[in-house]
Amino acid sequence: MKKIIYLLLLVPFFALSQATEPSNADAIFIKKLADEILTNGKAYDLLYELTKTVGGRIAGSPAMYQAEAWGVNALQQLGAPAVSKQACMVPRWVRGSGDFAKITRIDGKKQVRALDVLALGNSLGDGKKVEAILLAVQNFDELEKRKDEVEGKIVYFNNSFDATLVKTFEAYGKAGQYRRNGASQAAKYGAVGCIIRSLTSSTANDPHTGGMAYNDSFPKIPAQAVGPRDADYLWSLAKQSSTVKVSMATHGKFLPDTTGHNIIAEIKGSQFPEEIITIGGHLDSWDVNEGAHDDGAGVVHTIEVMRAFLAVGYQPKRTIRFVLFANEENGLRGGTAYAAAAKEKNEKHIFALESDEGGFTPRGFSFTAAPEKIAAAQRWLPLLKPYGTSSMDDIGGGADIGPLNRNLNTPLCGFLPDSQRYFDVHHARSDVFENVNKRELLLGAVNIAGLIFLVDKYGF
Ligand SMILES: [Zn+2]
Repeated sequence: MKKIIYLLLLVPFFALSQATEPSNADAIFIKKLADEILTNGKAYDLLYELTKTVGGRIAGSPAMYQAEAWGVNALQQLGAPAVSKQACMVPRWVRGSGDFAKITRIDGKKQVRALDVLALGNSLGDGKKVEAILLAVQNFDELEKRKDEVEGKIVYFNNSFDATLVKTFEAYGKAGQYRRNGASQAAKYGAVGCIIRSLTSSTANDPHTGGMAYNDSFPKIPAQAVGPRDADYLWSLAKQSSTVKVSMATHGKFLPDTTGHNIIAEIKGSQFPEEIITIGGHLDSWDVNEGAHDDGAGVVHTIEVMRAFLAVGYQPKRTIRFVLFANEENGLRGGTAYAAAAKEKNEKHIFALESDEGGFTPRGFSFTAAPEKIAAAQRWLPLLKPYGTSSMDDIGGGADIGPLNRNLNTPLCGFLPDSQRYFDVHHARSDVFENVNKRELLLGAVNIAGLIFLVDKYGF
């Protein structure tokens, strides 16, 4: 009896696994894709063009339009059968110039020391100097306990990464709430300014910007991230001195929304053209860097996979869309518009993959999908292992493809490169072309191409 139940339980999984069992022909074809990418890959040269000719390309800026034109051209030049632009309104946040923060007095004595800061994305500031006593807290719990001390002060959050989390995106997720909500939490109790520790475990003094949002119920106070070394200094100073006076100013403002575009190339499926597989990265970046890892790498991974499929003459069974998404960083308008159009047209999106965790050595993929689908995909591990994929886990995806899952329940997949160095450069001035390695970048494209091939061949 026990044995029969066991067999019955096994049947559905066995049926699925039969269809996805890797074959020698698959291994040979993936090797062909890998050889093509590692020998003739254009990803690194494309990244050079995007980072050095366009550079930083925040939504709504003139550089955004240059990046869009670059993307259309690159896809067409590399032989995309069809390229289209999907319009969406995007916000236009402008940093302005002259932002600063400095210590002006310690225990009543004049003592000036400049701090390396960047205003947080979407933050507002009229450029007027705000000078106040610093209240340094470790976290929201401490802020809550000391809420009576907040009025009229500049609040500093010492939101360090949890060093025990080996998956650095988990540390980022936890510390990130201070960037997103810290200013309004502080303003709720009367703070006049907010400084957060940059979201990184690096101890280089590079400050890291990134998106924040105000709660409309509270005053919209200036908000900055401070470089890690200056963060350490502020924190230790606040422990030793009762009154540290800080002066700061920011200049952020929003210009009217403007029209941005997702850039979409498509190869029509030969057998199941109505089944769509999306692969993408986001074309926008922050304004203070070249957006090389975030997300130039994902953009050129996407283009490279298309190029390699065409170069080896691969005719997909299903329709594959290669999408350069607009405005991930401070609005997610591109991903939202893409999913809304998919729903409106009643499209069948069977799988979506995003590369938005950098161009480092590939380690694996993470999925948001039914457990049996992830288990079936894990059968493909031996095929991708020679190129670096060693894990396929759950809870993954990417910001731009998230709305596809919410609108259409599309299974999601995030490409996972090694994450230990990503937050050294993420949203910092150091996210430049020179910090991306050609071999690591190309190997990323190899693993993504291999997985997309398998999803196309066997479905998901
Ligand atoms: Zn990104």
